[in-house]
Amino acid sequence: MNAIPSSARVLTATDTSRMIMEYLALPTMQALGNSSHRSQTTFVSASKARFSSITRRFFPNNWLELPATLAQNKGVITGSAALEMLRGEIHDEPRDLNVIVAAGHLSAMEGWLFGIGYEDANGFHIQRPLSKFVVEFKVYKAGHRLVTLSESTSPDIAEIIVRSPSTADMTFMTAGGIVSLYPTWTMRSESVVSQAGARAWRDGVRFGSINAERETTYMDNAFMDESCGPRCPSLWRNLRSDKNILMLDWDEHYSIRHIVQSSRTEWRLTRKCANYHCNHYQFARVVGTTFWEEGMPPTIHKIEDRERDIASHFPDQKLATGYKSMLYTVSCLEPIIVNVPLIEGTATYREFEDLYVECWVRQRGYGDCSARRIDLRETFRAIPAAQGLPTEHAYTILVEKPSPILLPNLLIDSMYSPSNGSQVYGNVLVLKHKNDPVLTPCDMRERDKALVDFILGW
Ligand SMILES: [Zn+2]
Repeated sequence: MNAIPSSARVLTATDTSRMIMEYLALPTMQALGNSSHRSQTTFVSASKARFSSITRRFFPNNWLELPATLAQNKGVITGSAALEMLRGEIHDEPRDLNVIVAAGHLSAMEGWLFGIGYEDANGFHIQRPLSKFVVEFKVYKAGHRLVTLSESTSPDIAEIIVRSPSTADMTFMTAGGIVSLYPTWTMRSESVVSQAGARAWRDGVRFGSINAERETTYMDNAFMDESCGPRCPSLWRNLRSDKNILMLDWDEHYSIRHIVQSSRTEWRLTRKCANYHCNHYQFARVVGTTFWEEGMPPTIHKIEDRERDIASHFPDQKLATGYKSMLYTVSCLEPIIVNVPLIEGTATYREFEDLYVECWVRQRGYGDCSARRIDLRETFRAIPAAQGLPTEHAYTILVEKPSPILLPNLLIDSMYSPSNGSQVYGNVLVLKHKNDPVLTPCDMRERDKALVDFILGW
């Protein structure tokens, strides 16, 4: 019998499982990690090791500083490095490392790069669809290594991510967690071009981080052989509450959870679904677009039409489950009580974004695929001008996204004629809620009108 030489390293069970884990896709690693405390420890250490081996190629002497530097600058890594992390396929020749930092953090991150031997690399340009959302885009090189740095115009980094040219690019990570907005396709190395990407494609611009040899790229989702369900690319999604995104954390210190949970960004991949098996495809075929994009109803007859549209568009969701709210349209003589349903696929109210207010006030630009609506509403929990006298209920006033095509709201104008001469454009919707933290909606009654008038007049 051969004795094991004392100098040889004996592999422990943990070593073996870690070696196996190094080759697995991250979601599989995490699933294995959940099986026992020991496996969880292995998942954590294997994930940290994978993150290090990916980033070490760009910062061979300073990779240990990267996690904290990234966190201090509210930065995330996107592109091929994030895909390698997710899929566990680490390639020998890394292209570039793409970093996005929050507004105001470019110079600190740049200082770190200069300090460790990187210098400016000229001749690179940002992809055009993203330019509106980036304060500055710079590229740095050290030898053959390239790092791109984008400074977001917004503290919400997701605003850039959702404008990526394809679903594969909508994967981003910190040093402790990763998010993929389209995990099913991304794990299968399939990607679908976004509306912003389709424009770049037509303009002949370099195409995100997609590597044509490793990725199957589709121009739309016509390849799907079953209904899209709630993942339909034409439906608006919300980063914070979406159940279909993949979010994995392996290091609590650098968790990605807070980036997701503080995000107010909404997005959809394209305006129209190209999947024959999806009911949104059929709807787009008949009407040409989704009905809330036709324009907001200005008159009483249009309001009745819209109520019928909602009922027929959501056959499985009775209008009765919606909440009665007060609508001030641009050309009605008095406010009208209308139903605000919950968004498709939502059975019970959890948060404000569950309300389908877009039936009545257009809060997203025509044809847009990303939006931030939080600035277009204001909630009153107390009566303004009355020393903050608390009200029994809370009321939220919603306005439409500013646009040159909006008409002045003559109803608001005739009722209040604001003393400062400011003009309200477009429809105005007022919702009533319980005065609780989640703003649980309740039905507006005629008797609420006096108080709503008072708040609106303010
Ligand atoms: Zn669809």
